[in-house]
Amino acid sequence: MSGNETAKIEVWWDMKDCPIPEGYDARQVRPNIERAFKERGYTGPVSITAYGDQTQTTCHVLRGLASTGVAVAHTKSESTRSLMYRDMVEWRVQNPPPATIMIISDQVEGDLSWDLARLQQRTRYHLFLAYSRKPCIDLFLNYYANWRWEQLLGGGAPLVEGELSSAMFYCKSCNSDCRSLEKFRKHLSSYKHGLEEAIKPPDTRLLCVTKTWARNYPATPEHATAKIHVLWDVKDCPIPEGYDARRVRPILERAFKERGYSGPVSITAFADQKEIPDHQLLALSSTGVDFAHTLHWVKYSRMTANFEEWTDDNPAPATIMIISDEVASSKSTSSLICARLQESNYNCFLAYSVRPFEMPVLVTSAEWLWESLLAETKRHILHKCSGSERVVASTGMFYCDLCDCDCKSLDVFKKHLSTKKHTLEDNIMNSHFQSAHRQRRLYKISKYHDEVGYPPKTKRMRRKAPPKGFLPRPLRFTRR
Ligand SMILES: [Zn+2]
Ligand SMILES: [Zn+2]
Repeated sequence: MSGNETAKIEVWWDMKDCPIPEGYDARQVRPNIERAFKERGYTGPVSITAYGDQTQTTCHVLRGLASTGVAVAHTKSESTRSLMYRDMVEWRVQNPPPATIMIISDQVEGDLSWDLARLQQRTRYHLFLAYSRKPCIDLFLNYYANWRWEQLLGGGAPLVEGELSSAMFYCKSCNSDCRSLEKFRKHLSSYKHGLEEAIKPPDTRLLCVTKTWARNYPATPEHATAKIHVLWDVKDCPIPEGYDARRVRPILERAFKERGYSGPVSITAFADQKEIPDHQLLALSSTGVDFAHTLHWVKYSRMTANFEEWTDDNPAPATIMIISDEVASSKSTSSLICARLQESNYNCFLAYSVRPFEMPVLVTSAEWLWESLLAETKRHILHKCSGSERVVASTGMFYCDLCDCDCKSLDVFKKHLSTKKHTLEDNIMNSHFQSAHRQRRLYKISKYHDEVGYPPKTKRMRRKAPPKGFLPRPLRFTRR
């Protein structure tokens, strides 16, 4: 865990979303949070800041928090979320990893979770959550544990009384701080403070700091020579009519080199075999591009499964490239990949035929429009391919994703496709999925695929088999 066990732990707590229960001693909050971390092996020093409208908090509670070293920050309730997040972003700049961060709030979904998921892909902290109300499923943050607030507090850790002399009180409305509870209470009831809150509009807008990030960055030293794996959705980003499919690999490799990446490149093309002409399959294979025959309705879960298996076998640093409109634009299909990028130092490239309407949740070091990427071929590679020079790389494999079988040559692959076993699998899949009812069910299953094990807490918690039905066995690529 690279030193995270003893590294500092910073906690941001929204007291309105997760209040101290009636009759509960405020002095128990800190020891219970510390105990929960200790139980998971985190023993670093814990700093806690409690945010909320502190004019509503009793003197007794404030004293209890302060006496246990919990910093108290006064905010207008409607500004708590954005101010808490702003403080966290600032803290991250000043406190590079390893460190652990924890958010106690019910408002992590939406733009906060999007922005934080992107921050975490660049700078990885161990992230913990606590909430009173379970967050929506579309949360794509990768966290190490999430607790229910009441359960977290119910741990019965012993009371340890501190001194008030080390207490910190902040007024976020006036941007001021003080060290004594009496002064703080006096400040909150002062004319100056009242005026400040009356004239200053509440700070409700969450500032997404990653919105301004660029789409292209030069290679970092650790990624410059690392492996690159390409997942290519041939339906979304097809080979144009009359285009020499043998050019795809060299043009990708060239584009990588231009950005400073020279590591070995593996490519898997995903498509329904019936939609790709044989000469293209052969051309791809001759340049070492693997082909995975898969039906459209399971394609994204197949690509994700392939991504997971590849990352299991190829630990970071490494680069993953995704050529797909769907994965680039949809949060649900990219959520698992996004979670893995937050976990380990993988670098991500994207290519798509249409620029996504919204900024992808995947943080990329390079992005391309598929057509303009291929167009580069004409300029740079055409003379190479049209001449006697032929690409002789390792030969790509052919996989049947339905039957979980792999073939070394197109002939063997074709033979497999005409076997009874394959035809049966194919028919079953098609007949089941073609009725509207089944389509709906499939949609649910593929959503299940996207959601199971999500967010993936550890490798052991990853996707289980689908509940029932006839989805093909998980894709397992074996090189022979
Ligand atoms: Zn104030
Ligand atoms: Zn098959």
